[in-house]
Formats: sequence, C-alpha cells, structure tokens
Amino acid sequence: MKKHSNIPIFVPELACPHQCVFCDQEKISGTHLIPQPTDVSTIVERYLETMPENRIINIAFFGGSFTGLPVDLQEQYLKEAFRFVKSGRVSGIRLSTRPDYINKEVLHLLKKYCVTTIELGVQSTNSEVLNKSGRGHTFEDIRNASTLICNYDFELGLQMMIGLPGDSYKKSIQTANDIVSLGADSTRIYPAIVVKGTALERLYHEGKYTPLTLEQAVEWTKDLVHIFEKNDVSIIRIGLHPSEELVIGKSLIAGPFHASLKEIVMSKIWEEIIDTELQCINSRASNKIKITVSNRQIHYAVGYRQTNKEQLKSRGYNVRFEPNPSFTKYQLNIG
Ligand code: SF4
Repeated sequence: MKKHSNIPIFVPELACPHQCVFCDQEKISGTHLIPQPTDVSTIVERYLETMPENRIINIAFFGGSFTGLPVDLQEQYLKEAFRFVKSGRVSGIRLSTRPDYINKEVLHLLKKYCVTTIELGVQSTNSEVLNKSGRGHTFEDIRNASTLICNYDFELGLQMMIGLPGDSYKKSIQTANDIVSLGADSTRIYPAIVVKGTALERLYHEGKYTPLTLEQAVEWTKDLVHIFEKNDVSIIRIGLHPSEELVIGKSLIAGPFHASLKEIVMSKIWEEIIDTELQCINSRASNKIKITVSNRQIHYAVGYRQTNKEQLKSRGYNVRFEPNPSFTKYQLNIG
C-alpha cells in the first residue's frame, strides 16, 4: 500500500468571529506568515522536491476554517492547488473547516477544484461541551454538514477533542460513536490543553476548569482507538504536533500534552493485550517467554520507553520480543 503525504499550507481564518475557549486567536493572526494564493505553487514545488517517490500526495489547507474565507480567496487558493492535481503531480486537495461553514454552494466550489477530503472540527457532539467550549455550533450543524459532505461524495474527516469543559469519559465515548455513525472515514483525537492567552487559561486560573491528567487522556484515548478501529475509521493523528512553543513550555500552561502521546496510548493497548494472553496461559511452568508480534507493532508491544517489557520483568518474567512480518496488527504469540 502506498503511503500518504500531505503538503500543509497553513491558512488561518483571520478575525474569526468565534470564541473557542482553547484557541489563541492572537497567536494565530499575529505570528504566522500567511501564504498568499500566489505562494501556493512555490510551497508545493519545494515539498515535491524532497518527497520520496511512490507516495499519494495531497495538498492540505489546514490551520483554520478554509470555507470561512471569502469565496474569491478560496477560489484563488484552490485554482493554484488544482494545477498540481491536473498535471498529476499531486493526487488531491484536502482542507479543514467548521461544521457550520458547510453548505451546498461551498461544496459545489470544492468539487469544481477536485477537493477530495473535508475535515470538520467537531470536538464534541455533546451540547453542553459545545456550549461551554464556546464553539458556536450545534450537533445539528455537525450532522447536517456530515450528511452533505457524504452526499457530495467527499471523504469525511471528523476531529474530536477530549477533556474540554463539561466533558466526561462517557461523553467522549458518545462523540466517538457519533463520529462513526456520521460516516467519517478518518478522525484525529486531540486532548484539550491549556494554552497561554486563551479563555481556558482564565478558567483554569479561576479554578473553573481542570484539564485531564496524562493518565486520563491515555485511558480515554485508548478506548476511543478501539471504537474507531472496530469501525474502520482511520485515525490520522493522536495528540497535538509538538511545536517548539509547546515543547519548551512557552505556551503550555497545563494539560495532558505529550510529544509521544500516540506511542503511550498504543503501549497501553499492547499492555492489555499481553496481559489478557498471559492470563490465558497462566499455568505455564517456565517464566521464560518469547512474545512475537508484527514488525510494525513491536515498538508499541515493547512499550514506550520499554514500559511493557520492564513491567513484565518486574513481575518475574524473563521476556524477549520478536518481530514477525507476516503477523497482522494485533496478532500475538507467546511461546
Ligand atoms: S478554533 Fe474556534 S476561535 Fe479558533 S480559529 Fe477556529 S473557529 Fe475560530
């Protein structure tokens, strides 16, 4: 299977009229150099030069609500990107936007320029969470937009956040189940964090908001991963990109940010799989075990920073892990 690569073009909606509690609008409009439509071709060419061959390449307009831009500006960006699709150098165009910025006219325009995938920032399908987070749209908006996008035959991506004000484990599970029912092809899972300069920072300092702990975020996300995998919704990303700002702590006030969140979640999933299997073969005489898993999963099975391996050792097992290229994703053999 060919791997996918995106050429990201960051196009924030300046002067966004919304007030999502987790968003630092000032930063969005202040510190990023916003590419103009005429810059698209230079950006794409630069990426294409360094991209490995044999990949499915998409131009991705991210960073804001693309369909909230003035229509003529949207069209200028799309025209530039479409030239690369027409010449066959790029497979398609994807973009992210808000659920309440989707209607038939918008979708007609996106179809005209061969946009393939539309990702909606859903965050939650729970009304209380949406209200308390200042999203300014309803579950009905999410449902209507998703239905339209599917009817127009676009690929649908629905992103969710966990741990927003008013959220709970149960509500996040419901959001994941709704994302499945709404027909999403893909999703992204972002734990809410408190970023400097946001309304969430104020709520946090006033004691009105408590972010999830890293352990909670891992536990919740693990169960969301099960739901999405069971229903063939591909998980494009878990956790925020570790931007310099977040990693060195300039903007991060509090919350479950971790540069390797996906690895930790996958390690937890494997910890449970291995534990269950060990319980089934509990009567073995020797504590010397060899755990065989697929090549692609072995680092998760061993665990982030070898946590699973170390934990097994601390329980008295003399454990060795071995990769097997013919194993399926969660296949395992303990011998
Ligand atoms: S996250 Fe919310 S406030 Fe921030 S740019 Fe997007 S819609 Fe606007």
